Amino acid sequence: MLGNRIKIDKNSIMFTFWKYFVVFAVSILVLLWLLQIVFLNRFYESMKIREVTKIGDYLREEFRSETFETKVLNYSQRKAMTIEVIDERGRLIFPLTWIDVLIKPKVIDQDTFDEFFEGVKDGKRPSRVFTTKFINLENPSIVYAGYLGKDATSKYYIMIKTALDPVDSTTDILKRMLIIVSVISLLLSIVLSYYFSMRLSKPLVQMSKTARQLGSGDYEVHFDNVDYTEINDLSNTLNYATEELTKTIELRKDLIANVSHDLKTPLTVIRSYGEMIRDISGEDREQRNAHINTIIDEADKLTHFVNDLLDLSKIESKLEDVKLERIDLSEVAQQLIDRFEKMVNPGIYKFTLKKEGNTHIVADRKRLEQAIYNLINNAINYIGEDKEIILSVIERDGIVEFSCIDKGMGIPESELNNIWDRFYRVRANHIRPEAGTGLGLYIVKNIFEMHKFEYGVESEFGKGSKFYFRTKAV
Ligand code: ADP
Repeated sequence: MLGNRIKIDKNSIMFTFWKYFVVFAVSILVLLWLLQIVFLNRFYESMKIREVTKIGDYLREEFRSETFETKVLNYSQRKAMTIEVIDERGRLIFPLTWIDVLIKPKVIDQDTFDEFFEGVKDGKRPSRVFTTKFINLENPSIVYAGYLGKDATSKYYIMIKTALDPVDSTTDILKRMLIIVSVISLLLSIVLSYYFSMRLSKPLVQMSKTARQLGSGDYEVHFDNVDYTEINDLSNTLNYATEELTKTIELRKDLIANVSHDLKTPLTVIRSYGEMIRDISGEDREQRNAHINTIIDEADKLTHFVNDLLDLSKIESKLEDVKLERIDLSEVAQQLIDRFEKMVNPGIYKFTLKKEGNTHIVADRKRLEQAIYNLINNAINYIGEDKEIILSVIERDGIVEFSCIDKGMGIPESELNNIWDRFYRVRANHIRPEAGTGLGLYIVKNIFEMHKFEYGVESEFGKGSKFYFRTKAV
């Protein structure tokens, strides 16, 4: 695959992953080299020093114990160390062979003793460890020189010697092995990381292809699921986004179709009535007034529709913040009743407000007014013979329920779920199909949901409806 792609994208996940993998492999190898080759000697020496110190300190503690001599012999054998107890003149005290018992040979001369036991001899410190080279030995040795104790005749010291074996030969073997291991692991890491990075980036490349398809207007695309959780999540999110996008596009189409239809009808009416006035009723005052009134009605309808559209777009774009405040719901209801009483022909409709308990709630006043306005408006539009609209605001057990009740035509049960949808109108209700926009309840629903109110409708076809919402009293 790489063969025919001459240019390597240095920012690609594949290349970056491959680069990191190789860097990682190289660093591990460098570390290994340093540890094995460069630090091996030092590491070995410090390890030996630690060991000798530990044994020396232990034996000094054990000097007075009965098993001291056994322990000295044991350690000498097990650890390949020379452990000797000497006196202040450098003469061997332990371990002695039967000849040594007689002559008590000097292990070191006085000068060497003074040098080795510097600081220990004069009691400044209990022991010291150092590296030195003995003439008869090829390699340097580690020496532990410590003070043991004294008796009536003399002072006793312990001296532990251990040769630092050369690690060079070991290093040589290691070096050779390391070269082989390094080459193999480098090659392996290059190949493996290339393979892994390709596997990892492949679904992403595929996704980006699909996304490009989506961008160019193909909404049928599907982002496939893959083996990695994170990329899977991304693919699910993108599928979700695609679904939502498709929905939005469908809605937009619907919206345009509905809006153009709803604008066209009143405009056609206005135009034809205008023509009628021009051609027919121009001189006849009574007829002309009737025609002009129809034009005014249609213009009002258009205004109403445009207002609904504006509200809809505001709500959907969520441009305005929700300004929550404590308001008296019954007061809002009363104000709206007053407004409607002024607006509609006086005396035709009867508005009743029932109030009970604490009717204060938390809500956005402007939006709530709009929702209740729409409900009352609907009640008027679909009213029955009695022409009565009842608003009730009742608080029980801390919950306020608002309802807008009419005894009008009601809604068939099968339609109850649909009336909240955008542009939905119940066919059976409309003798004049042009009345209403089908947006009123959709706006109401959005406002109630924005407030997290519990809401609904109870209705019986031919008998009337009750639209309600409930929320906490404050
Ligand atoms: P519209 O502008 O058509 O009233 P809405 O969204 O407000 O649009 O209402 C949707 C539909 O629900 C209406 O077309 C009507 O058929 C029905 N509806 C709403 N309120 C009532 C009511 N109080 N009584 C009977 N039907 C109603």
